[in-house]
Amino acid sequence: QKFVYDFTEGNRDLKDLLGGKGANLAEMTNLGLPVPPGFTITTEACKVYLDSGEAPTALREEVSAHLDALERKMGKKLGQADDPLLVSVRSGAKFSMPGMMDTVLNIGLSDESVIGLATQAGEERFAWDSYRRLIQMFGKTVLGVDGELFEEALEAAKHAKKVTVDTDLGADDLKKLVKHFKKIVRQEAGRDFPQDAREQMDLAINAVFDSWNTDRAKLYRRQERIPGDLGTAVNVCSMVFGNLGPDSGTGVAFTRDPASGHQGVYGDYLQNAQGEDVVAGIRNTVPLADLESIDKKSYDQLMKIMETLETHYKDLCDIEFTIERGQLWMLQTRVGKRTAGAAFRIATQLVDQGLIDEAEALQRVNGAQLAQLMFPRFDETARTELLGRGIAASPGAAVGKAVFDSYTAIKWSRSGEKVILIRRETNPDDLDGMIAAEGILTSRGGKTSHAAVVARGMGKTCVCGAEDLEVDTKLRRMTVGGRVIEEGDTVSVDGSTGKVYLGEVPVVPSPVVEYFEGRMHAGADDADELVAAVHRIMAYADRVRRLRVRANADNAEDALRARRFGAQGIGLCRTEHMFLGERRELVEKLILADTDAERETALAELLPLQKADFIELFESMDGLPVTVRLLDPPLHEFLPDITELSVRVALAESRKDANENDLRLLQAVHKLHEQNPMLGLRGVRLGLVIPGLFAMQVRAIAEAAAQRKKAKGDPRPEIMIPLVGTVQELEIVRDEADLVIAEVEAATGTELKLTIGTMIELPRAALTAGQIAEAAQFFSFGTNDLTQTVWGFSRDDVEASFFTAYLEKGIFGVSPFETIDRDGVGALVRSAAEAGRATRPDLKLGVCGEHGGDPESVHFFHEVGLDYVSCSPFRIPVARLEAGRAAA
Ligand code: PEP
Ligand code: MG
Repeated sequence: QKFVYDFTEGNRDLKDLLGGKGANLAEMTNLGLPVPPGFTITTEACKVYLDSGEAPTALREEVSAHLDALERKMGKKLGQADDPLLVSVRSGAKFSMPGMMDTVLNIGLSDESVIGLATQAGEERFAWDSYRRLIQMFGKTVLGVDGELFEEALEAAKHAKKVTVDTDLGADDLKKLVKHFKKIVRQEAGRDFPQDAREQMDLAINAVFDSWNTDRAKLYRRQERIPGDLGTAVNVCSMVFGNLGPDSGTGVAFTRDPASGHQGVYGDYLQNAQGEDVVAGIRNTVPLADLESIDKKSYDQLMKIMETLETHYKDLCDIEFTIERGQLWMLQTRVGKRTAGAAFRIATQLVDQGLIDEAEALQRVNGAQLAQLMFPRFDETARTELLGRGIAASPGAAVGKAVFDSYTAIKWSRSGEKVILIRRETNPDDLDGMIAAEGILTSRGGKTSHAAVVARGMGKTCVCGAEDLEVDTKLRRMTVGGRVIEEGDTVSVDGSTGKVYLGEVPVVPSPVVEYFEGRMHAGADDADELVAAVHRIMAYADRVRRLRVRANADNAEDALRARRFGAQGIGLCRTEHMFLGERRELVEKLILADTDAERETALAELLPLQKADFIELFESMDGLPVTVRLLDPPLHEFLPDITELSVRVALAESRKDANENDLRLLQAVHKLHEQNPMLGLRGVRLGLVIPGLFAMQVRAIAEAAAQRKKAKGDPRPEIMIPLVGTVQELEIVRDEADLVIAEVEAATGTELKLTIGTMIELPRAALTAGQIAEAAQFFSFGTNDLTQTVWGFSRDDVEASFFTAYLEKGIFGVSPFETIDRDGVGALVRSAAEAGRATRPDLKLGVCGEHGGDPESVHFFHEVGLDYVSCSPFRIPVARLEAGRAAA
């Protein structure tokens, strides 16, 4: 097993092994771009280290061999006293985890070699500055010293000198600072800062391995659904310096605007600085376009390289670069993160440029991005007070109370408040607070600052670099032009325009929703371009997808919206939703009926109401299938609360005026009271226990269909029986239904062609699907109940009780009620689908649990070969898109 790859040995397809950064450094090296030489230690080495607590034995020798080769190439040795080779040691996992893991720069400097470096560079200040940075970074990340101690010492040094920026500290100040830093290390870490260069390197490598498992890295992975066992690669790269004077600098660039997708020159540049200064947003940068006047040669070269990269990767790339005394070096590239809107625009632009085809364009966007674009936005015409403007870093419209630290953000959001986290700049320690907040606002840093990158990744609204805002985290307030905004004041943050408002700004619907609704009118200036891109991508998806998409809808209004959003029918009409409100009493009467006569009266009253519901529904979905599920209420939803009723009756009895009805009701409620109504008298069980109930519903469906036919409509109802566990249940209900349907057909002289099928939502139903298919013309997987019963989790209680702990412990990446549990619930769906089709090859298969609108689950249902997914109307576009992506 090979643990180390030279940059010349790898390529971009080796991300699993070399991490994203390493694979792309190799790719750039092989493209002939100027990459400082170096090598990558594989994720496999990291895994061994994390499993056993020790680096694999072969690793040390391989590193030695590669270091030798590097030293030969560079003509100097690591840490060599008179002319040291310096290296950076950087983390780089398969998936980018910005700022989450460790990096140490300037490895190879010591008390001796700092002098050699000063001589070679002809820059004493630079050498000592590099040395103090090494001790600082090494102290913090490798030796675990509190980083604040170094920051404080640095501040004190500046204060003593009466200067405000680091660059105003001279060589002598920095020498003193180095001494001070070394003392901090000795005191805090209980050891001296290592003077041996190789020891520095080996310790740094292990520290990078360890950083895979820091709390913040784990939290980030759970958020982003990155598996916890991938490990990180480590890149050892010869140092180039952006802090060698005004003809040096460092920057980041995008081949397109990650917010709009437009082509152009986008990025930030910082003269006379090292990389971490830009990413951390510590000093304010200049726009990349200004580099043209600062260093035309490097600028032109960079533009050419950007073109090369975009054509090569066929996608937006982001780039980190450094200029060392007029020589341009590429330190990193990757396919860049982008906003949801930009993803759609870029995908269609690349198709137009002939760089990718339509199938590939579908892979460049996803349902989560589409969902994001369907969020409402701020009403631009509202009369509101503009506080300031920053960089539109991550889109969305967020309103909340101002908080100035993560702790408060978490505390307030736990108590149900919406908060906006306002910081000067964020760092990885703010991650929890960022997750808790509705939106993030910073006064410093550019589009590539920590706040911007992380917020974009989380799909959270963010405005950064709003420089007019003076944020004072100690006093918990910010000032803008003399106005003070205190903790708790409401602010509104527009991540699409960068505008920050005082108070609550009203929101308007998104142009994408307006488009789906068929009433697209001018909204934000760039709405048309976005809508056009969405329109094209949706057309690609619809063309290739095999899964049909239906809606879960119980009324005409929802059904019509679903149709506008592209629904191809209704996959689940929950008839119990038709009995709530005023009609609840009728159901109560039915449940409480003692005699046949009472029951029949109740049913007779319900029949016309049901029929009218169905006529409306079939009309709204004319020509498309409508799956009507017979009543499946947890019974307690239809009866008075047992405690309240008991109290009422007890009070009345003490006054000796208890009424007959209440007493009867209480008796019935007691009789029907269940410890776990979700597993009680529901679904088909209820239909079998209450004579005439299902027959009444079937009659309403059949009569409604007959009436629609008479009106020259094209009704296509499908009758679905819920909570079936055995084929016998289904057979009884089906025989009864067949009789009713035949009666209605005879009475109305119409042929109705109704189909009867079942939900598969209990493990036993899934396990006996082959038998059940004998009696069912279709299956619809009820993955909500199936998840509940397969896991033994009560769907009503469990998310509030221990799910958080499970998510924190990484037992789930995401709730199994949200994304289908492929291995457990999914396996049952797969085998039931196969068994069902074995019995009845033309069995129609669908899913109508919440998972039907979840992107990842849609891919699974495609793989399993279902015919359709059914989801809430608002998620239909997402399901269409994901079904297309699954098939492309
Ligand atoms: C299901 O169980 O997945 C389902 C769709 O039915 P309900 O959520 O109404 O129980
Ligand atoms: Mg169910």
